[in-house]
Amino acid sequence: MQIPTHELTADDLELIEYARAIVEANTDGEAGVHTMGAAVRGADGTMYGGINLYHFTGGPCAELVALGNARASGARELSTIVAVGNLGRGVVGPCGRDRQVLFDYHPGIRVLLPTARGVVAGVQIKDLMPFVTAWSLEEGSKTYDGEQPGTP
Ligand SMILES: [Zn+2]
Repeated sequence: MQIPTHELTADDLELIEYARAIVEANTDGEAGVHTMGAAVRGADGTMYGGINLYHFTGGPCAELVALGNARASGARELSTIVAVGNLGRGVVGPCGRDRQVLFDYHPGIRVLLPTARGVVAGVQIKDLMPFVTAWSLEEGSKTYDGEQPGTP
């Protein structure tokens, strides 16, 4: 699979720093459970943050908390998302659950993603979802008919 990549912009670097500052200020440390921060940018440029909640019943990842924060703050269109690990771990990619939620809510969102070459910025969530099944409230689950990598 070929993932398109681009250089990080000043806005991307600011978003990474926002997520990093959130997790470093609010983590409960090496043996703790609040270990990931996330930040999303609204279409108007506003940043919204989140930190993960851990619970054995399945606490939400930082990305999902950030999405809820953005929605609760009135943002409807989001352009970019990033998650950063505590204790200087840097950018961390979204887990499978986050990817599906991002795809279904914000199919055009850019994801800042760690790679062997460093963090890349040109990846859209659909690029991370080959052969995905899309879900919407109106239509339920259905085969995604948009362009995506990995399609033969
Ligand atoms: Zn996750």
